[in-house]
Amino acid sequence: MKSLSILGSTGSVGRQTLDVVRSFPGEFEVVGLAAGYNLELLAQQVEEFHPKVVSCQGPADVLASSLPPGYQMVSQEEVASHPDADMVVAASVGKAGLKPLTAAIQAGKTVALANKEPLVMAGELVMAEARRRGADILPVDSEPSAIWQCMRGEDKEIYRVMITASGGAFRKRTADELATVTPEEALRHPTWSMGRKITIDSATLMNKGFEVIESRWLFDLPWEKIDVVVHPQSIIHAMVEFTDGSVKAQLSPPDMRMPIQYALFYPQRVKNDALPRFNPVETGALTFEALDAAKYPCFQLALEAGRKGMTYPAVLAAADEVAVEFFLKGAIRFTAIPNLVEWVLSKHEPVSSPNMENILEIDDWARKMAYAWPK
Ligand code: NDP
Repeated sequence: MKSLSILGSTGSVGRQTLDVVRSFPGEFEVVGLAAGYNLELLAQQVEEFHPKVVSCQGPADVLASSLPPGYQMVSQEEVASHPDADMVVAASVGKAGLKPLTAAIQAGKTVALANKEPLVMAGELVMAEARRRGADILPVDSEPSAIWQCMRGEDKEIYRVMITASGGAFRKRTADELATVTPEEALRHPTWSMGRKITIDSATLMNKGFEVIESRWLFDLPWEKIDVVVHPQSIIHAMVEFTDGSVKAQLSPPDMRMPIQYALFYPQRVKNDALPRFNPVETGALTFEALDAAKYPCFQLALEAGRKGMTYPAVLAAADEVAVEFFLKGAIRFTAIPNLVEWVLSKHEPVSSPNMENILEIDDWARKMAYAWPK
């Protein structure tokens, strides 16, 4: 039996992780659950999975009052580093996941990583610490999971990887039409059902830029070996081309339970009747298009920040988090998201070879700047 701590258990990836756990009775023990503010759902999860430790950001006394007596409320870091957990599923959103991820790594845990923002902010430091502590980082994000699956048994002679992008909610809209899109429209992703932040990041394609940065660190790939291609059906999640010109692709219906399950059971593959299976005839044509980078300034900003390195990616991630929050509140237009992020990046004086303290200070600075953006 494998013991799991799940960070972000009430979110989209967290709930789907628990769905996979439900599909395999007797295979997993849930040791810890950590969430943000959805105390009602967290209380239900505690009742069902009986973890040893629980953490939330909402009022702990409110949660404690709805739990059976004797429940220990702890910090996210304690959930992440609990001695009984074999694996930590990191599925909280944004910067909130950085400290617990670091705690899991420092405790030498195997981490199933969905929460990509910490790798965007501090990928080099996070991966170096993982190597030092002997902590394996297993991708859960579907595109890096696909790269990982294609590379299995073939970690040399990689010519390039191709990450696919659905094109987001607005693939067919012109740049002018994007000015008036509403949060409700942007939250309607054509192929994936996900949390609010990643759905907006998918519409701007900031998420695709984040995945390029994530893949650069997870697989230690040079930037020039990572390409992005638009694939509206979201069936192929990534392709890896080898030196001899042969290409491997990973295909599966767009359902996050598949990459979650792959990481939870790695290196085994197991059958799960609850998952949809790929039917080529029913699916029909799989198509590809070049990415119109001019239409997606957030994607370009992410690539530039990633390539420049230093503390630029931390500024990118922080400014984006604030910009998405503003857009979802109706405070700025969709097309202002890249303007805000670009403005904060333009004010940044980078720190070369930053440590984690530098990253956290700069994250703080970037958020303050983003709040002060002179629209
Ligand atoms: P959701 O918004 O659905 O869930 C986020 C989780 O984080 C919730 O449990 C939430 O708690 C918790 N949380 C929010 N704020 C805090 C905080 N300050 N401290 C601790 N916990 C907090 O996000 P997703 O599940 O969609 O995404 C999670 C991560 O995985 C993101 O980084 C995303 O980019 C990545 N990812 C997601 C995919 C998907 O299909 N959804 C696919 C690939 C990657 P609560 O709800 O209780 O407030």
